Amino acid sequence: MQAELLIHAPWILPVDAADSQLDDHAIAVSEGRIQALLPSTEARASIEAQRVIELPGHVLTPGLVNAHTHAAMSLMRGLADDLPLMTWLHEHIWPAEQRWVEPGFVGDGTRLAVLEMLRGGVTCYNDMYFHPEVSAQVTAEAGMRAVIGMIVIDFPTGYAADADGYIAKGLALHERYRGHPLIRVAFAPHSPYTVSDAPLSRVRTLADQLEIPIHIHVHETRDEVTQSLRDHGQRPLARLDRLGLLDPSLLAVHMTQLEDAEIERLVATGAHVVHCPESNLKLASGFCPLAKLLEAGVNVALGTDGAASNNDLSMLGEMRTAALLAKGVSGSAAAVPASAALRMATINGARALGLDEEIGSLEVGKAADIVAIDLGDAHTQPVYHPASQLVYAASSHQVRQVWINGRQVLRDGAPTQLDAADTFARARTWGERLAARD
Ligand SMILES: [Zn+2]
Repeated sequence: MQAELLIHAPWILPVDAADSQLDDHAIAVSEGRIQALLPSTEARASIEAQRVIELPGHVLTPGLVNAHTHAAMSLMRGLADDLPLMTWLHEHIWPAEQRWVEPGFVGDGTRLAVLEMLRGGVTCYNDMYFHPEVSAQVTAEAGMRAVIGMIVIDFPTGYAADADGYIAKGLALHERYRGHPLIRVAFAPHSPYTVSDAPLSRVRTLADQLEIPIHIHVHETRDEVTQSLRDHGQRPLARLDRLGLLDPSLLAVHMTQLEDAEIERLVATGAHVVHCPESNLKLASGFCPLAKLLEAGVNVALGTDGAASNNDLSMLGEMRTAALLAKGVSGSAAAVPASAALRMATINGARALGLDEEIGSLEVGKAADIVAIDLGDAHTQPVYHPASQLVYAASSHQVRQVWINGRQVLRDGAPTQLDAADTFARARTWGERLAARD
């Protein structure tokens, strides 16, 4: 057999249905897809590859899927910390956004975020931010995969004047990226408290027509629920349900406030939850009942949220926090084992985004989105269980090689399509501007 690329590693975690661990195996890649997954001894005998890469001490995993972020907010990392959500939003983040957010900001912020995510083994992210046409372009140039959100919000910004304006701009973006190999587009109404009924209904209708996901913050804090009961006489999730939003196209982000009947409703409708444990912890937003959701059969993906509330975009860190927090919250050390955390960061994210036929696991026929992590560091030795090292001990700097659609976008820890020095210089310039005003 001929292959373009053959990668050998002592461990492969394909994140298949059986949670297999393949020892001393190889992955053959051709035309951007996984062509074969087989023992290294067999691969050496039967596959003639144009390029062979030996990765002793490494574990290969599917590319990580960051199912919720605001990439451009990387430029606000550390701008305002140690504040509750509403104070943080109203007194710091929203004023800074009104003052600074324009296409140049979004481009430079997204580039920094893309660089950070690639270095951390993220190959696909689900974004929600202003000027999404800029995020889409920067991401495609970096060779990275993303689902770019068509943001919808009631109030005016430099990007659009009202909900109809946001939707119109979003639809133009969707049209421009139709059939693109890396970029998909989804609706991203900000939250139930910032988008009124009429635009939410319109998003529902359009998402059905275009067959795309709807990505929204829901039940982030107890205050959000209290306010909705006061203003709408309904909890936010019930209101979205009334508007027809609960179905398999919905990605409900955060969900720290959940009653048992609401969990049953998520199961019945097939809506997905995106858990962002570090952002929830940092803003003291509450605890998503992760173990309960997984037990009930809800598909739960994992996201970092924006760098202004995390403050990094590390999915390795997020997996660890999710697994540890679930044990603490549920009172069971058996809750969310390492394999479950890895599923959340890969195949569950792909499923939530409607991309599970394409990415999320290392299986023959899927896109070759592959990450190689070097476990030969002091804090990941010795290796009894590679999944355990990944989730409980590894750090982003151990991610050494990343392929997306079979193209190498990170080589020996360095991006191949992005100028790191230029990206950092631009970020520093923005940092100086924002600091001078804040
Ligand atoms: Zn968010």
